[in-house]
Amino acid sequence: MCGIIGYVGKNKRAQEVIMEGLKRLEYRGYDSAGIAYCTENNKLNIIKKQGEVKNLKEILPIEASNLGIGHTRWATHGEPSEINCHPHKQGKITIVHNGSIELDYLKMAKNELTNEGYNFKSLTDTEVLAALLDKLYAETNDINKALVEFQKQVIGSYALGIIVDDNYDKMYAIRKDSPLIIGINNDENYIASDICAISKYTTNYMVLENGEFAELTATGIKCFDENGLAIEKDIKTHNPELDDNDKGIYDTFMEKEIHQQPNVFKKMVNSYMNIDLNSANETIEKAFSNVDEQFNYLSENLFCNKIGDYSKFNNISIVACGSAYYAGLIGKKLIEKYAKIPVNVETASEFRYADQLFIDDKSLVIAISQSGETADTLGAIERANQYGCKTLGIINRTETSIGRKVDKVLYTTAGAENSVATTKAYSAQLTMLALFALNIVNNNKDLTATEKIEILTAIKELPNQMESLLNAEAMAKYNEIATNIYNKESLFYIGRGIDHYIGLEGALKSKEIACINSQAISAGELKHGPLSLIEKGTPVIATITDENIAQKTLSNVKEAYSRGAKIYLNITEDLYNKAGDISNYDVIKIPNTHPLFQSNLAVIPLQNIAFDLAEKKGKNIDKPKNLAKAVTVE
Ligand code: GLU
Repeated sequence: MCGIIGYVGKNKRAQEVIMEGLKRLEYRGYDSAGIAYCTENNKLNIIKKQGEVKNLKEILPIEASNLGIGHTRWATHGEPSEINCHPHKQGKITIVHNGSIELDYLKMAKNELTNEGYNFKSLTDTEVLAALLDKLYAETNDINKALVEFQKQVIGSYALGIIVDDNYDKMYAIRKDSPLIIGINNDENYIASDICAISKYTTNYMVLENGEFAELTATGIKCFDENGLAIEKDIKTHNPELDDNDKGIYDTFMEKEIHQQPNVFKKMVNSYMNIDLNSANETIEKAFSNVDEQFNYLSENLFCNKIGDYSKFNNISIVACGSAYYAGLIGKKLIEKYAKIPVNVETASEFRYADQLFIDDKSLVIAISQSGETADTLGAIERANQYGCKTLGIINRTETSIGRKVDKVLYTTAGAENSVATTKAYSAQLTMLALFALNIVNNNKDLTATEKIEILTAIKELPNQMESLLNAEAMAKYNEIATNIYNKESLFYIGRGIDHYIGLEGALKSKEIACINSQAISAGELKHGPLSLIEKGTPVIATITDENIAQKTLSNVKEAYSRGAKIYLNITEDLYNKAGDISNYDVIKIPNTHPLFQSNLAVIPLQNIAFDLAEKKGKNIDKPKNLAKAVTVE
């Protein structure tokens, strides 16, 4: 994970650019931050501080500097501490590193380098890389040759920003399995883990691919392949509107992002179905008058020549991590129910190392990742590609490593998500999977005109229904529930089918940000063990949105209640009316919608309860302990 930024230029003070970039990259790691910069009198200063970027800013002297590299860390090797903080210097080489080096290789390299006289102050893998590069540079006296040899030797993932003592006008960058881009401007150039770090200064950039490295000066960029041969690279342009770095009226990004969900939904149905819910002209009648056109529009957007019609696949595998994996589980239910194709969902970290994968050229593998850089999901797609199957990415960011590896990307267009705990990007994944399933049914001509109209009506009403779950009255209810729960030791979420999968996401949210031991349990499994954990007052949140199994879940709720649990129902209005005597339970009512989109509503109360729990516990909501946003290490 972690964020890297580097600057070489004539126009700006390197420190200022780097500090601004680190602030924007902080979502990627916030264990510590550090900077190395070259002063006017040709001296290299390295300054580091544990904790957030603002701590570093407080101690940073203001000095003229034309070149520098900076880092915000998410520790993989060695605890978060000042000594382990980047940049690391060995001999003539100073580096910042994003990635993780394999332990066997690291042990061997560290032993060898120690025998050759290198001393290591930190416990990081990064300092070993610095020593190795220093040694190779000393042997070759040519940094390009040293970098080619470095690539051959090192086992693990890395994106490096490098300063060499012999020339403080040049900066180097190299990468393998960790992202790195090069920003281009007049008389100044940049490196960064993510374009958002530098988009304030430039929108032109190049993507460094695996094995490639680059030499940057203020006025030029030279790129090389893994053999050290010069290569030309395409220049891309970033759309800065995609950066959303302002909290607006909210105190945290998470709160803002929860409240952006209705708009994200509108944006997605506008781009994928050509339905403009913001336009006063977009009446239900108008939507109904061109139903087929809207569904055809969906097909055109979703399909591509390389993959063809999704309904032709014998099976689908979804690979993802964390919340994206939970979205994938809901996707499985929707695709199997509506599109009638068997779907296997696996965490990417398991899929990529499975002994045997049962996929072939009649299989579609879907990778879901907010950042498009999730290391395990990238590994899973690389593995899938070896089987000759077709691959599809459901990704929020543009120009990503996973995006470049799949046959087609469906962008969730939720906008930049800054809070580590995902909300709007997760629900955008749910929307995309629903549209995916819908598209297959439509393509198979399995939808009647009435069904199409039902779906369009649901789409039209959904943003307002989402808003109703975010109004003052609803927020007060979540707050009241959180007040009752926040000092409890554990919290249970139960449900069946999709409702269980929503519970998994709710439990993950309260684990991530409120640090409460939260478990989501398939309601039918409660009696097979977890019931023994229920005591007087143990909070149990049951999600009930599926009519077919509602009564079954309500029976399980009763079992928990009979053993002392305090019950909170997260239930649709229809099912509430049919639930019988539930007067002993605290209730959140969710509006009813088409089952394809019901999860988009059901998850909102759970996101808000987790948020309120975290707030009451005084947690850093946007930057939870031990976590980071783009998980670029496996
Ligand atoms: N492996 C390095 C460390 O533990 C870099 C981690 C990161 O990507 O922040 O310091």
